[in-house]
Amino acid sequence: TERTLVLIKPDGVRRGLIGDIIKRIEDKGLSLVALELKTVTTELAEGHYAEHADKPFFGSLLEFITSGPVVAAVIEGPRAVAAWRQLAGGTDPVAKAVPGTIRGDYGLETQENLVHGSDSPESAAREIALWFPGLDR
Ligand code: ATP
Repeated sequence: TERTLVLIKPDGVRRGLIGDIIKRIEDKGLSLVALELKTVTTELAEGHYAEHADKPFFGSLLEFITSGPVVAAVIEGPRAVAAWRQLAGGTDPVAKAVPGTIRGDYGLETQENLVHGSDSPESAAREIALWFPGLDR
């Protein structure tokens, strides 16, 4: 079994999609290990997106992710990292994500793409420690 970090970004929270997104996670057979509605500090946002610090969209991304509460969750199941990325769909909600995925069904813009998922078990371990420092391993 494997764990991964889920974020419902501020656009997903503002649009009232928390219930729908959690339902998709549960329908897939993945289980919730931790779940929290959280206001993101700039410090946490910078830590989370450290790999994008050199990108032209970094400033805008930090502004967006700190613009309102997010839902942070840890989910668990067989191949949870890949399973959650499959549910989320590709980064660009129009050019990459297909209908049936969260981004494909609800998204139009690459930045405001509703959800985040760790991209590997190694990233998941780093991100879970960052967002849920008290969580047992
Ligand atoms: P996430 O890490 O949030 O699951 P991802 O792995 O699909 O997304 P990354 O390439 O790691 O995508 O980018 C992280 C986030 O930065 C994206 O989810 C999106 O919100 C934003 N982003 C990525 N590329 C762009 C871009 N070209 N313009 C604006 N925002 C972008």
